[in-house]
Amino acid sequence: MTIDIHCHILPGVDDGAQELENSLAMAEVAVAEGITHILCTPHHNNGVYMNPKNETIRRIASLQEEFDRRKIPITLFEGQEIRLSADLTHRIEAQDILFADLTDTYLLIEFPSSHIPAYAEQVLFELCANGYRPIIVHPERNAQIIKEPNDLVPFLEMGCLSQVTNASFLGLFGRDIEKTSHLLIKHNMVHLLASDAHYHEGRRGFHSLEALELLEKEFGRSKREMFEKNARSVVSGEKIEVPKPVMHEMKWYQRLGLFK
Ligand code: FE
Repeated sequence: MTIDIHCHILPGVDDGAQELENSLAMAEVAVAEGITHILCTPHHNNGVYMNPKNETIRRIASLQEEFDRRKIPITLFEGQEIRLSADLTHRIEAQDILFADLTDTYLLIEFPSSHIPAYAEQVLFELCANGYRPIIVHPERNAQIIKEPNDLVPFLEMGCLSQVTNASFLGLFGRDIEKTSHLLIKHNMVHLLASDAHYHEGRRGFHSLEALELLEKEFGRSKREMFEKNARSVVSGEKIEVPKPVMHEMKWYQRLGLFK
């Protein structure tokens, strides 16, 4: 059983699959890679795409019907990749937000790629204080975190989790993002791996197994098992216990921005 908790397989709703054919092609790759469960996480409220809760639930149910009809052995779960906004709490109250699990605990949160907004700490602290567990997606691609990985720590201390993208960890987005992925995992600042797969003609797989194998090779079997268990806990709404994050101590040459 392999679960992918971040995937743009839902057709025609964002920059992922455009047509049903694209979703089917992605599903074929997923099955070949041994993925059995996918959390559908279309972009929501990111300035380009809106995928509010109820409409997204309907769309996911209809894609599941297509999969079942074609005997594609994938179970879809409902979710969103939610762009952080100052009014997030209000959006939850307004039933606009689709959680990653049926107990409404986990939700995928995306920061803008250039920086961490000033209001982020207050908004996410409020969510954590109310029992929600935000999952910060691909922090390794955020320019501010690449520069200063410790900027992620306050969010982890308040109870947020974080997810690194398989392709980032495998080095497919370049050296800086690869190094940041490894550094964050090493310092207990990451708890999940996922594909964040979009549809790309003939390329870019899910890389789930490759990433898990590299995780095991570099950080040991228990780390891999913890990450796999965490992915199951996200979709089932079970509690996730995580080790304390360790601050990254910068060397003098790193402070000068010379090397990572
Ligand atoms: Fe995404």
